[in-house]
Amino acid sequence: MSAAIILKRGREKPVLNRHPWVFSGAIDRVDGRPQPGDLVQIATHDGRFLAHAYFNPHSQIRARILTWRVRILSWDETPPTKTFWRGKLTRALKLRHSLSFGSDTTAYRLVNAEADGLPGLIVDKYGDFLVMQCLTMGIEKRKAMLIDLLAELATPRGIIERSDVSARRQEGLEETKGVVWGDAPPDELEVLENGRRFLVNLLAGHKTGFYLDQRENRAILGQSHFISGKSVLNVFAYTGGFAVYAAAQTAGPIINIDASAEALTLAEKNIALNGWERPQDEYIQGNAFEALRYYRDNGHQFDVVILDPPKFAHSRRDVKKASRGYKDLNWLALRLLRPGGLLATFSCSGRIDADLFQKIVFSAAVDAGRDAQILQHLWQGPDHPILLTFPESAYLKGFLCRVW
Ligand code: SAH
Repeated sequence: MSAAIILKRGREKPVLNRHPWVFSGAIDRVDGRPQPGDLVQIATHDGRFLAHAYFNPHSQIRARILTWRVRILSWDETPPTKTFWRGKLTRALKLRHSLSFGSDTTAYRLVNAEADGLPGLIVDKYGDFLVMQCLTMGIEKRKAMLIDLLAELATPRGIIERSDVSARRQEGLEETKGVVWGDAPPDELEVLENGRRFLVNLLAGHKTGFYLDQRENRAILGQSHFISGKSVLNVFAYTGGFAVYAAAQTAGPIINIDASAEALTLAEKNIALNGWERPQDEYIQGNAFEALRYYRDNGHQFDVVILDPPKFAHSRRDVKKASRGYKDLNWLALRLLRPGGLLATFSCSGRIDADLFQKIVFSAAVDAGRDAQILQHLWQGPDHPILLTFPESAYLKGFLCRVW
């Protein structure tokens, strides 16, 4: 008999609804002696089998579900084997294949953790290289097997691990990074996104190197009728994702602001790499809030402001403070826009859903005394799918607003 997690009476509903997380509070007891990362069965209080999961006693999310009892066809109680992992990876690759990125987009997400049925595993593709993040003990324990499978199924030149994320500490894991299979990537690897050229540093860049989740939004904002000839304030510019798209449509002067000097250096290189000379652009290293206040105090005005801040809310406790941060930021940005200008504003905090974010931007507009119309809702791209039964997988949301 394998180890089992027995739920409290009446706590099976989320599991039946195929939510992949089992929290400590829902658990009555653990039968057997599962080690961190081991497979466990999930069962109701009266012993009915519900799902297979991997276990971690160190995390509040005590178990992450891999397979559920198939309710209609059969009661499949076989625990997941290597075939399971191969099947899930194959399905994830197939989805990306069906998105038909074509040869002008060589960087995209291959595996989006829970949303691809692979809790705790992120894999991004950058040309011939893969970058993986192992966020949980269950994935850490199976890392060698997953690397083998990725090498076999995606035939990369090299696989880099970027598990240097603080979330690992909640799982009792150290941060780690390095080349784990095949060749090391060049310091600056060139990738294409919608035909635009970008240099990416896979070992030192943020996340896995690039904010792939903004691809579709960069393309939306980078349409000539929105951006051509316009002055742009690109706040939280990183390596110039939005700036490169804007420059491609002959935007007016672009001011890029970011806290990271390395990111801005790469942003400038990316503009040059695409063949443009833009002496009118600026790259300003500093705090976004201070920069926005400076422009407000000095009466600067822009046609387009982009706000793509880092995650402000890391847990439920942060939501209030984060909401204030988003409001301040949007309030400042709204005051810098010329009448008829565009605000592209984002939040990548999973804890702040699209409804709440809309309310925050609404109250910023009221306080700034500006009318704003939402032209378009913006989301993470389709290579970052959202699992219907797991709303937590919807994290990036934004609005494209016309401001009067
Ligand atoms: N828009 C970018 C991604 C932005 S990610 C793209 O399309 O690629 C968020 C960026 O905010 C990071 O580059 C980080 O360095 C920067 N950042 C974080 N805190 C900041 C602050 N207080 N002021 C300015 N930049 C900040």
